[in-house]
Amino acid sequence: MMLFPLYALFVCFLCFKHRRRWRGIAAWAAGVVSIVTFAVLDSHIRTWMGFSPGSLVSLQLLLWMEAGAVAVVGGFIVLLPRRNAVMPCRKCGYELKGLEDENPRCPECGKEHAAFEPKVRAKPVASLPAATEATPVAPTLEPVPMSPDA
Ligand SMILES: [Zn+2]
Repeated sequence: MMLFPLYALFVCFLCFKHRRRWRGIAAWAAGVVSIVTFAVLDSHIRTWMGFSPGSLVSLQLLLWMEAGAVAVVGGFIVLLPRRNAVMPCRKCGYELKGLEDENPRCPECGKEHAAFEPKVRAKPVASLPAATEATPVAPTLEPVPMSPDA
């Protein structure tokens, strides 16, 4: 009988791990449907084997209670927000990674200089080489590779 709570915990773990993702919703739906299927099959098999429908009502009651609990608790867990923004907005937490500006205006809430810390720290301009010939830089449309710590 320890299998049923462990199974419910496993479904809730999958819901938490993949919350707000299609995998989480799929895990939640598959968990609930499998328990309901087991309960219905148990009832049919019991009737088919000749037991009276009222025998072992407690197992049926436990299965339906587990299905309801997994549906409610797993559904709540799968809807919990994910907070894994790499560069969150200071005001609303919106993901700012990938925007052009190093400390951009938040496109979600409009906060100016929304990043906690700028993507690229400006190097101090100590001394410029005296006579460097400025080569014209043509704008390119190639994607700029980003460093992993940006
Ligand atoms: Zn914001």
